[in-house]
Amino acid sequence: MQQSKPPFRLFLVIAIGVVALGYGVHTYKNVAQRNKAIEESNRLVDEFNECQEAADWKCTERVVRALLEKAPDDKNLQLHLAGSLYEQERYEDCIAYIGTLGYRNEELEYLEKKSKSLLKEMEELGIARSMHFRVEFEGSPNRDDVLEALSVLEVAYDSLCRLFEFYPEKKMHVVLYQSSAYQGIGPRPEWVGAIFDGKLRIPVGMMQYREIYRPVLFHELTHAFVRAMTMAKVPLWLNEGIAQLVDGAGSGKERPPGSVPSLESLAAPFVKESRTDEATKLYWYSLEMVKKMFRVNEGLASKSQFLKFKDCVRDFRYKDVDAALREHYGVTSKELWEQVSR
Ligand SMILES: [Zn+2]
Repeated sequence: MQQSKPPFRLFLVIAIGVVALGYGVHTYKNVAQRNKAIEESNRLVDEFNECQEAADWKCTERVVRALLEKAPDDKNLQLHLAGSLYEQERYEDCIAYIGTLGYRNEELEYLEKKSKSLLKEMEELGIARSMHFRVEFEGSPNRDDVLEALSVLEVAYDSLCRLFEFYPEKKMHVVLYQSSAYQGIGPRPEWVGAIFDGKLRIPVGMMQYREIYRPVLFHELTHAFVRAMTMAKVPLWLNEGIAQLVDGAGSGKERPPGSVPSLESLAAPFVKESRTDEATKLYWYSLEMVKKMFRVNEGLASKSQFLKFKDCVRDFRYKDVDAALREHYGVTSKELWEQVSR
């Protein structure tokens, strides 16, 4: 699933180099100084790109401030500074900084408006900034539902940290939304409730249904953990299989009738599947493949298997999926697929 990009994350223009080139007259001394200035700017631009790549907003802020010292009127840099403050949930600082600029454009207006509405919503709902989640709202979700969702998410977060012995460096982004109109980008099939697309999108109305929300939140949070652990592409059967193993909702279900889905369809995003029965099948085969991989029955996997899973998906950054599976589990995805298709 794709991570959504914030609208203000524009690429940094080469203007920095141009600004540096604008320095001085052509004496040898000035040429040397100029080269040094260009080198310094290039180094900062590289660093900026690394910070952005890692979505490290503190680092982005520091680098952009250094670049702004060289080019204080650069509008693109000003936008990046406002954006990095926003991303750090420093909404008051973001609003104050935009206030000092003396102009607005579409992106700055967006950040200012969004910061103000987030502050207002948090105040109205009486919620403090969460330790592990960065929360946004869509629509006007009910306060009790929001508080319940956040407290269950915190419990699930602690459990998953212990299960995988993994402590995410960054906060996870949660969108709590009120109606189905806010379920992420593009039309989604009706069987999709909560989703993870880089952000956890939770329909908070779900909190009215005690029997479903716990597994759903554990499930979606597992996707967020898998992403944070590997930051590489994970085949969908593996991602959905592990999430179901953790949420416990799929265990003990009988094999769905009909043809066996292809390995290709099990690796592609399931949300493309609009038919509920086909989707059910994909989920069932995914869970069975991961259970086979873990060699467990009824989803009772031991702790060490989750640690092995973490090591395996981490290797996806450097290795092909089947090479990593073979190394950690002694099987390939095709072999697992064949075993569950029998
Ligand atoms: Zn899922």
